[in-house]
Amino acid sequence: MYFFWRSFWDKIWPRVCYSCACELVLAESTLCSTCLDEVHAAQLSVQHPLPLLDSTECWLDFDAKPVQRFMHQVKFGQRPEMAFRLGQLYAATHEPPHVDALVPAPLSWRRHWVRGYNQSEWLVRGLAQEWQLPVWRVLRKKHRPPQAKMKLEDRSKSAHGAYWLAQSLPPGCRLQLWDDTLTTGATLQAMAVVLYRGGASEVHGATLARAL
Ligand SMILES: [Zn+2]
Repeated sequence: MYFFWRSFWDKIWPRVCYSCACELVLAESTLCSTCLDEVHAAQLSVQHPLPLLDSTECWLDFDAKPVQRFMHQVKFGQRPEMAFRLGQLYAATHEPPHVDALVPAPLSWRRHWVRGYNQSEWLVRGLAQEWQLPVWRVLRKKHRPPQAKMKLEDRSKSAHGAYWLAQSLPPGCRLQLWDDTLTTGATLQAMAVVLYRGGASEVHGATLARAL
């Protein structure tokens, strides 16, 4: 019965893939099967652990063209649902981490206001729904110039001191910290330091994409 109504509504109100804009069919949701295949083909096989974090995991290779398109949609295309869907996809293919909560990287209030949403928060909501883990929005960020326009050495200086805790953490808690993209790792490490100082015993970093 579901597929009858799905097919009926698709004819009246066609749904399109958020990435390539082709028409979705029946069981497809948010992304078409071609784009889903592209996601799976862009998975990274080698990881580069960062100092300060208990582990680091990046899912997709940012240099793969489809991934750049996805990330552009997620960050600048007013498509927060895409981040949610990518979170669901990641969680469906990975074991839940042994942590007490998932923590999204924050945006500054100004960036949040301009964009209208925090892509990392939507990503984490997709993960949390699949894994049945709580989401702790405990980090806050000062407004700084966009890192994409900075030289690599300036990113570390910019990330240092940019984050703080909005509320106290249970002592000894274990956290998985999520951001959309890893570049130098300065941002993840700066956030992890704040979480450790706040009482976390483990901070595991993870991102949707890696651009090194
Ligand atoms: Zn597509």
